[in-house]
Amino acid sequence: MPYSEQTVQSVRPWSDKTFSFTLTRPQDFSFENGEFVTIGLKREGKLVARAYSIVSPADRDYLEFLSIHVPDGPLTSQLVHIRPGDSVWVNSKTTGTLTLHHVLPGRTLYLLATGTGLAPFMSLIRDPECYARFETVVLVHSVRTVAELAYRDEIEAMDRPQLHYVPTVTREPFPTPERGADLFRSGVLSLRLGLPAPDPGRDRVMICGNPAMTRELARYLKDAGWTPTNHRGVGAFTTEVAFVVHHE
Ligand SMILES: Cc1cc2nc3c(=O)[nH]c(=O)nc-3n(C[C@H](O)[C@H](O)[C@H](O)COP(=O)(O)OP(=O)(O)OC[C@H]3O[C@@H](n4cnc5c(N)ncnc54)[C@H](O)[C@@H]3O)c2cc1C
Repeated sequence: MPYSEQTVQSVRPWSDKTFSFTLTRPQDFSFENGEFVTIGLKREGKLVARAYSIVSPADRDYLEFLSIHVPDGPLTSQLVHIRPGDSVWVNSKTTGTLTLHHVLPGRTLYLLATGTGLAPFMSLIRDPECYARFETVVLVHSVRTVAELAYRDEIEAMDRPQLHYVPTVTREPFPTPERGADLFRSGVLSLRLGLPAPDPGRDRVMICGNPAMTRELARYLKDAGWTPTNHRGVGAFTTEVAFVVHHE
């Protein structure tokens, strides 16, 4: 029985399009920071399940997720209504390509996220191992509206001198209105942070965002001499799409 029934502990809305929630953690549920799992709701006995990155670090006794609300989405049109005490079904198998073992240790680790693509990086930036493997960690979160900057207060309050957090908002006035991918590519990101220019031999990149941005940036990195993570999990950059676009 790969799915187990878990209980909603809390729900936290961020914007009309995004919300977070916590669940009880299944017994013997183990995962690596950065991985995703399939979760779902049962409607009339039928399970509707989707992939979700795990926001909470692996050492917590609960599971936290950051979700989009797609008004006509089979899962999230229902998930948006969950309340403490409700049931959510959680698969026992976790996987993913955004763990610390998917890039070689190095100087600076760039974590580039759009939208709910922040989720896997939330567990990574709270992993002490991340700061042992890298001198500096840069987290860029690009969203459309300020309200979609989930976890902004928590990240800004983190006592991690090695961590640079760069929120960017593209469709509302904000001090950083650029797309994160453009900031990285142009070299403006490292320049503004006072860091050396990104170097494929020394630095590492992880991308989690909308499929077009993820594809585009991966192509740019390859052309610029960055080695994608291979089947043994070793490389200079690794990507995961934050969602799949379904065509009718
Ligand atoms: C590896 C992986 C990890 C994922 N992790 C997360 C996560 O942590 N949080 C999360 O909310 N979703 C995540 N997703 C997407 C998730 O699996 C569902 O697609 C999402 O929950 C919507 O489900 P739905 O049934 O309501 O709509 P679906 O029928 O699944 O999607 C309908 C449409 O909504 C859009 N869409 C779906 N998800 C998103 C999103 N996250 N952001 C913007 N647009 C979207 C797409 O255009 C899609 O075609 C992940 C997907 C993959 C493949």
